[in-house]
Amino acid sequence: MTANKTLIIIKPHAVRDNKTGVILSMIIEAGFRIIAMKMIRLTSCQTGEFYKEHKGKYFYEPLVKMMSSGPVVISVLEKENAVSELRRLVGNTDPEVAEPGTIRKIFGLSTRENAVHASDGNQNASRECTFFFSELEEFKY
Ligand code: ADP
Ligand code: MG
Repeated sequence: MTANKTLIIIKPHAVRDNKTGVILSMIIEAGFRIIAMKMIRLTSCQTGEFYKEHKGKYFYEPLVKMMSSGPVVISVLEKENAVSELRRLVGNTDPEVAEPGTIRKIFGLSTRENAVHASDGNQNASRECTFFFSELEEFKY
């Protein structure tokens, strides 16, 4: 089941620019099912914990600041090979390098403000879904 689930976060700049709907549309068009969703503003403490694997890297502090600068939309997505399929749809971390048609190519402003977060492996996907959602908040169809 884990292999079929992943987490996406629409980053504050994209929510602020009213891109939530069009990004979710692309995700649904690509065959993902939304099984949990919420819109919240994270504290820097929560963001720091979420991104703890990057602690110590030069981009960690500004990343935490950016991710807690406004509301985000967080969703658990279901699809076969969800993690790799979503990473493909999301594109490279650097929007300039991302393939045409990917979410980051279309909506990314910079390597930091690259529109969305997507889990990068099955183990992280499992941790990240549990970080934000309880079992009761995930719906099965
Ligand atoms: P990804 O989000 O593609 O999995 P990483 O896990 O390496 O990329 O980094 C997490 C986030 O940190 C990125 O999405 C981006 O917002 C930020 N980031 C990563 N590398 C850089 C960088 N070189 N400069 C600025 N921000 C960065
Ligand atoms: Mg990552």
